[in-house]
Amino acid sequence: MSQTQIPVAVLNQLKSAVSAGDVIEQAEQVEPFVHDFRHLFSGRTPMVVLPDNTAEVANVVRICAEHRIGIVPHGGNTSYCGGATPDASGSQIVLALKRMHRIRKVQPLDYAITVESGCALADVQAAADAVERLFPLSLGSEGSCQIGGNLSTNAGGTAVLRYGMMRDLVLGLEVVLADGRVLDVLKDLRKDNTGYDLRHLFIGSEGTLGIITAACLKLFPKPAGTATAIVAVRDPAAAVQLLASLRTSSGDAVTTFELIPRLAVDLTTRHISGVSDPLDRPHEWYVLVELTSARPEDALESALEGALAQAIDSGLVLDAALASSLRQREALWRMRESVPEAQRHAGGSIKHDVSLPISAIAEFITRAGGWVASHVPDGQLMAYGHLGDGNLHFNIQQRDGADVKVFLARAPTIQRAIHDLVAELRGSFSAEHGIGQLKIAELERYKDPVALALMRELKRALDPLGILNPGKVLRKESRTS
Ligand SMILES: Cc1cc2nc3c(=O)[nH]c(=O)nc-3n(C[C@H](O)[C@H](O)[C@H](O)COP(=O)(O)OP(=O)(O)OC[C@H]3O[C@@H](n4cnc5c(N)ncnc54)[C@H](O)[C@@H]3O)c2cc1C
Repeated sequence: MSQTQIPVAVLNQLKSAVSAGDVIEQAEQVEPFVHDFRHLFSGRTPMVVLPDNTAEVANVVRICAEHRIGIVPHGGNTSYCGGATPDASGSQIVLALKRMHRIRKVQPLDYAITVESGCALADVQAAADAVERLFPLSLGSEGSCQIGGNLSTNAGGTAVLRYGMMRDLVLGLEVVLADGRVLDVLKDLRKDNTGYDLRHLFIGSEGTLGIITAACLKLFPKPAGTATAIVAVRDPAAAVQLLASLRTSSGDAVTTFELIPRLAVDLTTRHISGVSDPLDRPHEWYVLVELTSARPEDALESALEGALAQAIDSGLVLDAALASSLRQREALWRMRESVPEAQRHAGGSIKHDVSLPISAIAEFITRAGGWVASHVPDGQLMAYGHLGDGNLHFNIQQRDGADVKVFLARAPTIQRAIHDLVAELRGSFSAEHGIGQLKIAELERYKDPVALALMRELKRALDPLGILNPGKVLRKESRTS
């Protein structure tokens, strides 16, 4: 099969649809666009097209619709489910949004910012900061992931407890539809009850219903005070109780509440330079807690200190340390943010991105952890992450010396058992990482059948030719390329 499954005349048409003919065709330059971040998926494409503006995206989509060519939108390529990777046919183009990185409008009075979808998340945070505002989405990948990718995966991160997921941070969207029309719902309104709220169809749809070209995002007052602590808890049940009491005692100032197990501390101290054990003695479970307030007069540190002292008296907390400087705070965050990297250094990992009602988290960890202990002797439990949102990265890390191929070969069986337990506890098998091409079978197994049927109907209605990110989220239907 040749690399080019798309006629050269059509490729030339695509090239002339973007200014300065900005496309990538040479194999070695195309290479970074045909693998996902974790190298779980690889594909082929004859061309990466880099539009400069919305009109150019619309031109490209119209040409693809005319010739029934699949389009794979590509942001920062940091997502975990292979959503931005083309298939192996060589008959899909990659549409990379990175040239569309303009901040269109900063509106401090509206607490809003309008940006193009190729903006890096960190650049949007910086633009907000420059006008004394906060854009609160915060991910370990924020230097390279893009707003379009964040919207299309409905990204979460470490401040969801306080500010919500990406869906909660959007006022308006501009989207190129599958026939090349531009949907302009790029409003900066807080209230707009004028029929169906279409923006929500595109958020979390992983490029299968439209290409997002711009968004108006909500901003917030910049925190004037922050208190951060690393807290050793008795067990996950104690962590859940601590979360509930801290939310009440702090006036709901808890922004971050991240569960960190002993293994995460061991791996980060071993593999990441500059990370050290955070407390004097080792403990089995920790939480990284952060309180923020927009009011400088709020004495967050003393409130946190008082609440933790009470929790020590009641036996929920075994030990705790408040960060007393920016450096200490950054060191704690470095440990948390570098867990995925440390896991990569430590060998194979079988991953689950699950969410549960917060009240069911402790039961889930006990039951799923017990199952892992008895069924996966060559793996050890690494359950960490956004406990404040009921979202765990329930990973199983290969033990030192285990055969990585044998270990990873069992992933489907292990994931089925874990996801079945999640379903029994009325949780979700995909909390914030989406479906992509990795979790289609899981979606078919666990999603309500009526919801799944509606999703397929929506896909047919909005993308009748099936050209938008074919084979992602939903299986490709025969009409797609
Ligand atoms: C170290 C690290 C930490 C992470 N932490 C978190 C975390 O805490 N929370 C979290 O939610 N995720 C996290 N992620 C995952 C990832 O960063 C997010 O999923 C992010 O939102 C993906 O953005 P991206 O620009 O890289 O998207 P990509 O990977 O490029 O694309 C993701 C999907 O969106 C589609 N897409 C991209 N741009 C557009 C567009 N403009 N229009 C339509 N569709 C588009 C793609 O086709 C694909 O289906 C982390 C990743 C890493 C590497």
